[in-house]
Amino acid sequence: MVLAQSSNLFPGMQSVRHLLDAIDSQLAPWFQQRGQGKYRVGQVRKWLFAGRASRFAEMTDLPLALRDELAADFTLWTSSTARHTRAEDGTEKLLLTLADGGQIECVLLRDETRRTICISTQVGCGMGCVFCASGLEGLQRNLSTGEILEQVLRLQQLLGPEERLSHIVVMGMGEPLANLDALLPALEEATRDDGIGISSRRITISTVGLTKAMRRLADTTPRYRLAVSLHAPNDSLRQQIVPAASKIPLADLLAEADYYFDRSGRQLTFEYVLLAGVNDSPAHAAELANLLAGRTAMINIIPYNPVVGLPYATPSATAQRAFRQTLESRGLNVHFRHRKGDAIDAACGQLRLRSQTTSSR
Ligand code: SAH
Repeated sequence: MVLAQSSNLFPGMQSVRHLLDAIDSQLAPWFQQRGQGKYRVGQVRKWLFAGRASRFAEMTDLPLALRDELAADFTLWTSSTARHTRAEDGTEKLLLTLADGGQIECVLLRDETRRTICISTQVGCGMGCVFCASGLEGLQRNLSTGEILEQVLRLQQLLGPEERLSHIVVMGMGEPLANLDALLPALEEATRDDGIGISSRRITISTVGLTKAMRRLADTTPRYRLAVSLHAPNDSLRQQIVPAASKIPLADLLAEADYYFDRSGRQLTFEYVLLAGVNDSPAHAAELANLLAGRTAMINIIPYNPVVGLPYATPSATAQRAFRQTLESRGLNVHFRHRKGDAIDAACGQLRLRSQTTSSR
């Protein structure tokens, strides 16, 4: 790695950089060295974000020689598509294999005019939530900015010419707040006018509730919507379901969520995965209502999406309805997440899990 970067020692041996890791700060000096104006950076950006180009060769308003040089010095894609699935409801899912062999998933969801993408921030996950497929083998590594942005651009390329990306949810594999350094520059590109141009209000970051990172986000970039994965109305149950919670008492977590709300003015979302016989009784719902009373928040109830090999079950429709009614009767703003893309294992980590279990047989 070090040798490859020392190109003066080995003339002709150039390291190929991932353009998406830092587009402007890599391209501006590169064009300058070649006597090219700054506007060239804008040309490349336009091809990438608006033109949905997948190769430098397509960037036809740049001279051919420059395109060839760009292709020699930079790579656009560091991943390859291991599997591309499409469900009847229009949901598409990509399983990507990274340069080091790690695998991640990302999803495109179509809902009327909405085009939402769900992206990953880590290979695996270190949070260990007991019902989740992503963390079964722990954390392998953080994704780079380029690897995060690459998911956005690859999913955008799946859209038809009339379709536009409208929302981003950072709810794929991994804990986004454990990788803020890489995530924030990628989201910056998504929101810039000369990037994808998505309003930050349409970007949601979901966290298990890492309080220090929540504070950092609130103090530096309180532009995005925040979703906090609660899954339980009290500390002892939460610690069983979300092991990371043993270090984060609910009182601290809610105080930090309130702080984010104060700084951002954005309505908070609390996520609650319903697991039959674990956290889905009317008593749990009442306790949850007490916990969240008085907050400007939405409660996103997610009926458990079964993961092969895990001992949990999805509550019956009756139990789900009763849970919802208890919350609504207390005046809470409840939303049930639609199950989209079940047939293609669209819940986090599930396609990767399937791929690993079938290929290891
Ligand atoms: N680490 C982040 C992002 C995780 S994925 C977080 O914890 O919020 C986004 C949401 O999907 C989380 O609320 C997560 O708990 C939930 N989820 C994970 N696996 C699930 C499953 N099998 N069924 C239903 N929801 C699941």
